[in-house]
Amino acid sequence: MTLNIGVIGTGAIGRDHIRRCSQVLQGARVVAVNDINRDNAAKAVNDLQLDARVYDSGHDLIKAADVQAVLVTSWGPSHEEFVLAAIAAGKPVFCEKPLAVTAQGCKNIVDAEAKYGKRLVQVGFMRPYDQGYRALKQVLTSGQIGEPLMLHCAHRNPTVGEAYTTDMAITDTLIHEIDVLRWLLDDDYVSVQVVFPRKSPKAFPHLKDPQIVLFETAKGTRIDVEIFVNCQYGYDIQCEVVGETGIAKLPEPSSVQLRSGARLSTEILTDWKDRFIDAYDVELQGFINDVAAGQLTGPSAWDGYAAAVTADACVAAQLSGEIVPVTLPARPAFYNKPSA
Ligand code: NAP
Repeated sequence: MTLNIGVIGTGAIGRDHIRRCSQVLQGARVVAVNDINRDNAAKAVNDLQLDARVYDSGHDLIKAADVQAVLVTSWGPSHEEFVLAAIAAGKPVFCEKPLAVTAQGCKNIVDAEAKYGKRLVQVGFMRPYDQGYRALKQVLTSGQIGEPLMLHCAHRNPTVGEAYTTDMAITDTLIHEIDVLRWLLDDDYVSVQVVFPRKSPKAFPHLKDPQIVLFETAKGTRIDVEIFVNCQYGYDIQCEVVGETGIAKLPEPSSVQLRSGARLSTEILTDWKDRFIDAYDVELQGFINDVAAGQLTGPSAWDGYAAAVTADACVAAQLSGEIVPVTLPARPAFYNKPSA
């Protein structure tokens, strides 16, 4: 069976997902596209040589009889309305993060999905599909290092543009750690504090960079995440889990080890797209396979909601300097299924 997909939003990631569905993955084709800028959608059809119809409205695309599943890759504030429309139409929907730009918006989606009675939503958190994180999780679940006690993590970018603000370190950058560490530990956050070390002179004057985010989880695990988005030297993701009997570390991306000029060296990536390129393929193939199997297993609307609630607490902690509780209602039984 080939799954007919409609894509809303043909910007950077939308086009990349269209390419993926059309040229890389198995079992899907893009039959419909929409963008608020029609020319942009038409250009994507042309450039990627798609046999797809261009829709003037995302809502008409969702309702189209030949569209069996929807990819929402438009800008964040439009996600909620399209995901709700897909649920109303009973169609599976893969929504890029954020699921919605407010926690209440995410909750509206959770409620709509629960009312529908079956999971229809997957959120585009791709790190749980990264080979390295999956290997790390396997070590944790195998019990090889006992229970996790502490995590030391870092999310570093070479530079960011002037439009990047202090809260975006949470909503655009840390949001991936917020999701993947919950998944890795199978745990929820209960509190968060943000502290600001000495500011890097490489950061724009309005931006507090670096930052350290300190989480406590329900099981009592402590996590520190360094966010440093003007680190200059590369795009570097670190995650070290200190367990009762050992330490497990996220593997480095594979790279040639070079002996040259009296130095032993390996390259460090500089672009986030390269770091997780395989994970994007695996995540979307997972969605396509799950739709075919009739049961979604990837990051859920609940995960999107939990991330939004946690991010709100982090931003409040940035502003207050206090330890801020992360208050999440109990996960509905509806979402208690194993995830990918
Ligand atoms: P982008 O290049 O700006 O693309 C967004 C596209 O959506 C633009 O073509 C935009 O048109 C269009 N659009 C805006 N509102 C729309 C609406 N109401 N209906 C239809 N189309 C609309 O942004 P992007 O980098 O692709 O990011 C898109 C989403 O993916 C964001 O939520 C982002 O956070 C997420 N993302 C996730 C990852 C990840 O690692 N998982 C990576 C990158 C992006 P205009 O340009 O004319 O406004």
